[in-house]
Amino acid sequence: MTALWKDILHNEQLIQDVAAIAVDAALLEGVLMRTEEDSNVSDVVNFAPFTLLPSPVPSTLFEQAYAVQQDFNLLVDAISQNAEFLEHTLASTIQVDAFTAQLFKIHKQVLKEGLAQSLILGINRSDYMFDHGEEGSPALKQVEINTIAASFAGLTSRTTAVHRHVLNILGKTKEASTLMYNNPAKGLAMGIAKAWELYGSDRAVVMFLVEDIQRNIFDQRCVENELWNRDGQEVAVVYYREGYVPKNYNKQNWEARLLMESSKAVKCPDIATQLAGTKKVQQELSQPGTLERLLPNNTESVARLRATFTGLYALDMDKEGDKMIAMAIADPDRFVLKPQREGGGNNLYGENLKQVLEKTKDSPERTSYILMDKIKPQPMMNYLLRAHSPLKISECVSELGIFGVYIRQGKDLVMNKHVGHLLRTKAVEHDDGGVAAGVAVLDTPYLI
Ligand code: ADP
Ligand code: MG
Ligand code: MG
Repeated sequence: MTALWKDILHNEQLIQDVAAIAVDAALLEGVLMRTEEDSNVSDVVNFAPFTLLPSPVPSTLFEQAYAVQQDFNLLVDAISQNAEFLEHTLASTIQVDAFTAQLFKIHKQVLKEGLAQSLILGINRSDYMFDHGEEGSPALKQVEINTIAASFAGLTSRTTAVHRHVLNILGKTKEASTLMYNNPAKGLAMGIAKAWELYGSDRAVVMFLVEDIQRNIFDQRCVENELWNRDGQEVAVVYYREGYVPKNYNKQNWEARLLMESSKAVKCPDIATQLAGTKKVQQELSQPGTLERLLPNNTESVARLRATFTGLYALDMDKEGDKMIAMAIADPDRFVLKPQREGGGNNLYGENLKQVLEKTKDSPERTSYILMDKIKPQPMMNYLLRAHSPLKISECVSELGIFGVYIRQGKDLVMNKHVGHLLRTKAVEHDDGGVAAGVAVLDTPYLI
């Protein structure tokens, strides 16, 4: 287990005192969330959950994650431009998954009518864990890529200052000074502003779609406040911070989605890019030859991308699918079973994974899932600070996300950037779950 901060981790009095200071620093810096009870007003807000101490991240893996981000931007872009690939890859999924099928239907319809806009704005976040593996030195392994509504670019830009303050209070001034500048919200806003500019109408606005329940309003405001205030009605850019789960849509919402998709507005993301972020597509990318076909003449990108992949398996109605199901039932702790869903809390592990596979193994329903090797990071100790929760030391693992922004104009990629990172940390007893799902907390990487 990593021994970072071991001189203070077990000093209870010190930890109590510093935790109180850390919470105040979080409130001051704006690491905020609305409460569950009052999710749509800001009369009562509290700090968003965060770690007391920054977590160790191997610098080589951190650099690797940044270095591959532009490749992932290229890859998502290439997939979204490749209707044949999407159709072929999602063919079995859309037979059994109504939500993906509905998205796909809109995708087909706008292609048939011809796209009204050749500008595309992509904002994604590629997430990784540091697999401990057998050799002992950790490896960067991708968990997933989020191509719609990737969150926490705002709040993560503010956690660094909190952790810097905490380290300074603890007398660790040298360590504090090494924490890196990180402002992905600024990068996201830059992408949106650039797309707006290329759209080319002074009176047009950016349309920001948010969920009914708006606990994470402060994260979104960070991006919004980086943009200019404008009047008018014409929409230049549609920026989705919802629309990725079935409950975001009723019949009218599906009609609105089609309307926006058919419009001249720049969509972030357009529906093809959203589909490019499905777990099924991620699994298909791991098949031999797929990356090479999508990114021809780009062997370096392909090698960097492939190095971050762990084992991913289709559960098609064939011998290979049967074999993987038998393997997973025999050794469920080796795998994660994933449906085509976003937002945390949807995956299946251990006993649940086994039960679901036993129940669906003879039905086409099994093809709505993919199977993935479980990434097993080395745990480390930290304190997870949450409003109204007792302070206790926890064994934790971290997930690093890198934000990517790109813009395509017709055939040209006019922007392709990485714009910052997000580190989220959770207690090892939770298999799944992000910050919004109440499991992980915000963190800052401390490079080792
Ligand atoms: P979502 O789109 O719902 O965020 P993810 O694929 O990111 O779906 O899975 C949710 C969480 O489950 C991750 O944040 C991570 O904690 C855990 N998880 C997902 N895949 C793996 C894996 N292969 N190994 C270990 N943990 C995983
Ligand atoms: Mg996701
Ligand atoms: Mg995720």
